[in-house]
Amino acid sequence: SGKAESFTFQAEVNRLMDILINSLYSNKDIFLRELISNASDALDKIRLLALTAKESLGSNPDLEIRLSIDKEKNMLKIRDTGVGMTKKDLIGNLGTIAKSGTSAFLEQMQKGGDVSLIGQFGVGFYSVYLVADNVQVISKHNDDKQYIWESKADGSFTITQDKAGEDLGRGTQINIFFKEDAAAEYLDEAKLRELVSKYSEFIDFPIYLYASKEVDVPAGDEEEEEPAEADESADDDISDEISEEGEEGDEEEAAPKTVKETVWEWDLLNDNKAIWLRSPTDVDDAEYTKFYKALAKAEDQPLSHVHFKAEGDVEFKALLFIPEKAPYGFMDNYYSNKAGLKLYVRRVFISDEFENLMPRYLNFLKGIVDSDTLPLSVSRETLQAHDSLKTMKKKLVRKALEAIKKLADADSEDTADTETEKDDDTESPTPQTGKYATFWKEFGKSMKLGIIEDGSNKQRLSKLLRFQTTKSNGELTSFDEYVSRMKPKQKDIYFIAGESEAELSKSPFLEKLVAKGYEVILFTDPVDEYVAQHLSEYDDKKLQNASKENLKLGGKDDKEKKSDKKLKETFKGLVAWWKEVLGSAVATVKVSNRLATSPAIVVTSQYGWSANMERIMKAQAL
Ligand code: ADP
Ligand code: MG
Repeated sequence: SGKAESFTFQAEVNRLMDILINSLYSNKDIFLRELISNASDALDKIRLLALTAKESLGSNPDLEIRLSIDKEKNMLKIRDTGVGMTKKDLIGNLGTIAKSGTSAFLEQMQKGGDVSLIGQFGVGFYSVYLVADNVQVISKHNDDKQYIWESKADGSFTITQDKAGEDLGRGTQINIFFKEDAAAEYLDEAKLRELVSKYSEFIDFPIYLYASKEVDVPAGDEEEEEPAEADESADDDISDEISEEGEEGDEEEAAPKTVKETVWEWDLLNDNKAIWLRSPTDVDDAEYTKFYKALAKAEDQPLSHVHFKAEGDVEFKALLFIPEKAPYGFMDNYYSNKAGLKLYVRRVFISDEFENLMPRYLNFLKGIVDSDTLPLSVSRETLQAHDSLKTMKKKLVRKALEAIKKLADADSEDTADTETEKDDDTESPTPQTGKYATFWKEFGKSMKLGIIEDGSNKQRLSKLLRFQTTKSNGELTSFDEYVSRMKPKQKDIYFIAGESEAELSKSPFLEKLVAKGYEVILFTDPVDEYVAQHLSEYDDKKLQNASKENLKLGGKDDKEKKSDKKLKETFKGLVAWWKEVLGSAVATVKVSNRLATSPAIVVTSQYGWSANMERIMKAQAL
């Protein structure tokens, strides 16, 4: 081989490797999922490339992944016929170019986060150091010679041109030299089979394991030896057979004698059928869950899924999942998160970096969209401008919101059910412990941002909103529930926005409303007041901010109107005096009927910013 060049890892990558190699984390199995997923990504890339440049497959047209164990060397080999890496790729992708996910993942691990989520941070490759103390990545890309990357996780790696090793043709082979404590576990065929079936069953390329099998062969006949010898000389690694002395099968003279023989074969571990192309009636929940975990590189259970086929001008199949947990830092990265969808065209993976397939507020969904309509021979760039993408987006959003609505409806049914059980000492609403409560906790903010960002689905989204009110006793409630509790002559929906429920519940703005029995929504998320502005009404009822002037309480009778008038007369002088004293500090001074016990209150004008909005704006300007 050529001369080895040495490189130091980018600082954070180095820290990451240090932590991984010394980790006592128990679920080390995930390294295999990560490496197989990388192999699959590389195979996707060459398959896509081959659509427009058939010659790129060269003499290596089989797209596959092969695992083999070398017990003598304490080593597992993972080989793929994917796109491979050039020397530059090896240096950049595996160690010197910083990725934003590295620091995010380190941060999460410091907080005791789950190591198995490493793949979501774009640094899954390094998980191999959970089990290995030395790793070689041998790679051949069409545009370069074959190179070996090697690192013992000691702060550096080497790159060497591979002149002596087996010619890969195209693709990558990872040689994993196990740590002593991991070797016995992973140099085991049964274990590898179990892991592939657990994590990588849905990989869309065949995964083979070079495995031994005991077979019965007739014993004693000399002719039997000859074909075996002929096999050995055949230039085909698949029929590489090793025979061992077997035990005699049957003692009885009459029966033909057999011996056990160990045969080595490439054994197919997955059946790589695309689950999204199957009919939903043929896929059970366990399969969906397994597929979700593989797709999302996650450990949670999906809260729900939608699996459908769109017909008409634009035909496609889609399988979408609503995760149970938001990825780490999901909301902090709201504006830079990638979409969770993978786009396929007739089973060929095209890209997972589309911005126009799902609106940003639904980026938390994971799934696959497989189009029958889009042309295969298009690049990501030209596809982006394709008209049918718009139709797909519209349908996908519709279906996703429907699925979320279903979750919400199922939860309120649950609540209704338990209420009928009648606990005699509880009057407060039953706590919502169902799936929608989980959804709301994780992704509620996305629904709110949806109202601001997606005017066309405002109505649908508004049904999904949850909040606390003066009557919800600490539980979450919906607009529909609020409306069902409205007083007979109540016209508007009242809300008040501020920092916390505790602060709001003491607010003088609420006094009269509460005294009169009106329910008031307590908005405490900084985004809530923006949402209320965008929504402006629900079910033809205006959303009325209780801290603004002109708050009109519906349903005043003549007697009340008369007394209002009388009060205004009585306090005419006082009002004039106040205005004189306060001068330009206020716009106007009025006699109000919105208070119950407080003597006076400062309100904002109908069209100005509320005090809460001013507080938020000030905080944002900092
Ligand atoms: P991610 O897969 O999320 O990009 P990884 O840490 O798993 O992050 O892999 C880093 C990069 O290394 C990949 O993006 C890819 O460019 C490259 N890579 C890893 N494994 C292979 C492989 N088997 N074939 C080709 N490239 C690979
Ligand atoms: Mg990866």
